[in-house]
Amino acid sequence: MSRLGIVFGGSRGIGLAVSQLLAQRGHRVVVVSRNKEAAQAAAESLPGGEHLGLSCDVSKEEEVQRTFEVIGKTCGRVGYLVNAAGINRDALLLRSKSEDMVSVLHTNLLGSMLTCRAALRSMLSHGGAIVNIGSLVGVKGNAGQSVYSASKAGLEGLTRSLAKEVAARNIRVNLVAPGFIQTDMTAVLEKEELVKRIPLGRFGEPSEVSQAVLFLLESPYITGQILIVDGGLQLAM
Ligand code: NDP
Repeated sequence: MSRLGIVFGGSRGIGLAVSQLLAQRGHRVVVVSRNKEAAQAAAESLPGGEHLGLSCDVSKEEEVQRTFEVIGKTCGRVGYLVNAAGINRDALLLRSKSEDMVSVLHTNLLGSMLTCRAALRSMLSHGGAIVNIGSLVGVKGNAGQSVYSASKAGLEGLTRSLAKEVAARNIRVNLVAPGFIQTDMTAVLEKEELVKRIPLGRFGEPSEVSQAVLFLLESPYITGQILIVDGGLQLAM
């Protein structure tokens, strides 16, 4: 059955790969990012018709509200929600600036709370599925990423609790926790040393994360789960 899928952070990286896979499966996709042109270009690049690209900063409640109003009016009920919008401001906590802490928490954690709440209103009567994109760093922790790690660990709590809150409405909530994935976010990293720690010996591709996201979106009896997609990196941590 074709559904309406909303992908926050869908203009590039992991979110774009999720958008592509959803469109390939015949779903209608709304791609959302702060950059309107990028969101629209991503939507236009997807296979099939009627996809939409919208601008929204997930950290801003009024923008999230407005976005779901537009979606409700032009596209109808939300079937799938994927929260892939995320930023990092990596630094040791001792050197982290308060404004960076706020930006990371508001984008990665508060943003997903706002989009989940808005999507749930649309899903309550007919069910649906949500996948939040966490991180292996949220599961394991990492020196130099305390704030980012806290935002992603918070998403795990959100995922498990919300799964309990809405299961009776046939709404499922799961989380995919990637390791190192080849995207703009990791472009600055020195890869040579890092890949030595990854049992599969390479960074993952965004399409390899999107496979896991689609699996969770489509699995009717899985909810409240954390699925790690990391080439085995957790085994070495
Ligand atoms: P990218 O930087 O490639 O893409 C991030 C996406 O999020 C873009 O579409 C960006 O668009 C959007 N975005 C960022 N901030 C906001 C905001 N405030 N409101 C709306 N959209 C926003 O990142 P990745 O694809 O690598 O990461 C996707 C998710 O996966 C993130 O949550 C990240 O933390 C997580 N992750 C990534 C890993 C990796 O190795 N790459 C590992 C583990 C987790 P725009 O800038 O136009 O808003």
